[in-house]
Amino acid sequence: MKVFLVFLLFMASAQASILKAPPSFELKNKTVVFVDIKTISSKIKYDLGSSNASVETSIKFEQFSEGNPVFDLTAEETSVILNGESLALESTSLPNNTSTVKVLNKNLKPGVYQLSVTNKLTKNVRFLSDGVKSAFWMSDLSDRRYLEQYLPVNLEYDQYKMNFEVEILGTSKEHQIRTNGEVTEIAKNKFSVSFPEYFTASSIFFHLMPVGSFNEESFIYKSIDGREIPVTIYSAGSLSRYLSRTKQVLPELEADYGPFPHNSVTIYGAGSGGMEYCGATITSLSALGHELIHSYFARGIMPARGNAGWVDEAIASWRDSGYRQYSTRNLSTSRMAGHSIYRRTTDRNAYSKGARFMGFLDSKFSDAGGLRPFLKKFKEDRLFKPFLTREFQSDLEKHFGEDLTQEFDKYIYGAGKALHREEHGHNPFHPKLSEKQLFELL
Ligand SMILES: [Zn+2]
Repeated sequence: MKVFLVFLLFMASAQASILKAPPSFELKNKTVVFVDIKTISSKIKYDLGSSNASVETSIKFEQFSEGNPVFDLTAEETSVILNGESLALESTSLPNNTSTVKVLNKNLKPGVYQLSVTNKLTKNVRFLSDGVKSAFWMSDLSDRRYLEQYLPVNLEYDQYKMNFEVEILGTSKEHQIRTNGEVTEIAKNKFSVSFPEYFTASSIFFHLMPVGSFNEESFIYKSIDGREIPVTIYSAGSLSRYLSRTKQVLPELEADYGPFPHNSVTIYGAGSGGMEYCGATITSLSALGHELIHSYFARGIMPARGNAGWVDEAIASWRDSGYRQYSTRNLSTSRMAGHSIYRRTTDRNAYSKGARFMGFLDSKFSDAGGLRPFLKKFKEDRLFKPFLTREFQSDLEKHFGEDLTQEFDKYIYGAGKALHREEHGHNPFHPKLSEKQLFELL
């Protein structure tokens, strides 16, 4: 008992995020275990001579129990090395076929390790006659569409410090990177980019291009907490409406939910799309408000897994509806947070049923100030700490002093019902773009 307690305390202090990892599982004489990545350093090279891009990554990770560690990477790896030994990452289904991950073909004892992985970078890379464009576009609607498309990372529960060294070879044309990391130009066309240690596989915004590829405007936004936040907006088209909308939305969000959580704002007015990153977005004009609130809910408070993803889409969609209130008559049952613990994507019922559930809570607790003051507190208490749906529920219950088991069981966990149809329709703010459309936005 005592040993177990000490172990728990050690785990809590060592790294809270591993506590949100899905459980280990057995597979063909193997125990597959989830790990805690400490740091990721990637050298990203674009070579115009051969029109090839590659990534060399060093991952420092800690493993807490014996087994084969899980990572993910959908790009093709060309080498995997641990302690000088050449290994492989094997595509492996998670239980109930919820998703696929890459599992190292080596059983490891608990400890700290350094893994080196080299992979090809082909997705959303376009070589031009004298330059290159490359972006790490992501999506939360399809499985395995976060940073694992470009370099090896962990699942969304884990947070770690990431550093990129980016080099463009074979051109004298000057390049730049638009990103939510801190960029240092080491030499011409050689950059170092450093990201905060709370970033996850869904946090990074990265867009490399020759200088002058887009129209751009920047301004300083004065936050309610006194910070001067640099805002950069770029687009192939006109910037004026993105500028005026941004200047409206930021003060609106700060009035409702407190200081903007990130140190900069980057907006790519692509005219289509709609995807959120930490303090950044690629968006259409109509989705701009929706994407910016995601810097609070999704990329400020962060879902630890697919079953928690509904919360931020429900909040953002509730705002889109003008914060309408609903009664139980407007609600329908769902299991938005009742899927397999291994699931990685957001249930799309969040946009409709989830948004109405937020409007229901707002109405139910309107005498106690409604939902928005709670959400502000939720963001302050849990900023940059991956959360689970049951924590959202218990924080609500504490705040309003009322048990919500029945409501969550019926409308969120889908308890007692075997089947719930999952919606597959398009959401106007997150239209699903084809690979070709995403490539064209480079
Ligand atoms: Zn959204």
